[in-house]
Amino acid sequence: AANERESLYLVNEYANTYFQKILHKTDQGKSIGLSYFKERGFTEETIKKFDLGYALNEWQAFTDEAIKKGYQLEFLEKTGLTIVKGEKQFDRFKGRVIFPIKSMSGRVLGFGGRILVNDKKAAKYLNSPESLVYHKSKVLYGIYDAKQSIAKEDNCYLVEGYTDVIQFHQTGIRNVVSSSGTALTSEQIRLINRLTKNITVLFDGDAAGMRASLRGIDLILEQGMNVKVCSFPEGEDPDSFAKQNTLEELTLYLEENAKDFIQFKASILYEDSKNDPIKKAETIRDIVNSISKIPDTIKKEVYVQECARIMDISEEVLFTTLAQINQKELK
Ligand code: ATP
Ligand code: MN
Ligand code: MN
Ligand code: MN
Repeated sequence: AANERESLYLVNEYANTYFQKILHKTDQGKSIGLSYFKERGFTEETIKKFDLGYALNEWQAFTDEAIKKGYQLEFLEKTGLTIVKGEKQFDRFKGRVIFPIKSMSGRVLGFGGRILVNDKKAAKYLNSPESLVYHKSKVLYGIYDAKQSIAKEDNCYLVEGYTDVIQFHQTGIRNVVSSSGTALTSEQIRLINRLTKNITVLFDGDAAGMRASLRGIDLILEQGMNVKVCSFPEGEDPDSFAKQNTLEELTLYLEENAKDFIQFKASILYEDSKNDPIKKAETIRDIVNSISKIPDTIKKEVYVQECARIMDISEEVLFTTLAQINQKELK
């Protein structure tokens, strides 16, 4: 299996070089892929730094070329780069711009591909399928390019998408990674935990998405990490916001708008439920549940006090609820 893994890595490395060659050296790559990236505001330097590429809009251009170069169909299929149907082969990423996904040590694990024109029939982003080398629950896009900066800044920004990571880098903030649309996992958090105890989660500016992500954040607390959250103005995401602002403006925005996660969640829940006693009871259980994930007892106590103040309830109620939750966990 070690050999097979190595074969998949080699195929991925080849594909990574190939997609970049197509982007920079072919007419279709330049007129479609490269202009797409440039329209999004990415510089030549940024495009090269992230090894961005393009897959020709043909059924099996990549597969044919790879086989001609001696790569075996078996491994092309196992990386998911080629889809095999009977006698026929198809390039998975056909006609998409390519974002290679790298491990902490810089090996290419898989790819994300984006369609160029938004149409409702095709998924906007397509990723490599799970393989011997690509486990989506264990990777963070951008970790290879961010790791030094995460350690140095002692903080990690967590964003939703590939382009958020890239635009932050271009603006000058390099301690940033993305879970690429999947729900955050404990394994992903552990990758960050090795480098820093501080995470700032940045939400796209849409309320629904933000409320949905609050749940996953308990996993960060469980690992004893400090969590802040920050959202962007309605309709903006870290990419579009960074693109319109200088490094100084972006930094100031993050400093002024990043809030402690528990306090933020408490105030949101309070706003959502202050006029509804039944909802308020659920809400108390929800916030106390988050607090119960924090391993440090002193921190727990401080948060109980804070939340009592924010949600306008007594500390006793919160402590009692906390004790109840702990009881259940013991059983
Ligand atoms: P863009 O700016 O290119 O339109 P985005 O990165 O802002 O895209 P979002 O819609 O905010 O995209 O989604 C965040 C992330 O979720 C994406 O970067 C991608 O990794 C993932 N994602 C989005 N749509 C899909 C999809 N249809 N299938 C799989 N993953 C997706
Ligand atoms: Mn989004
Ligand atoms: Mn987005
Ligand atoms: Mn976006």
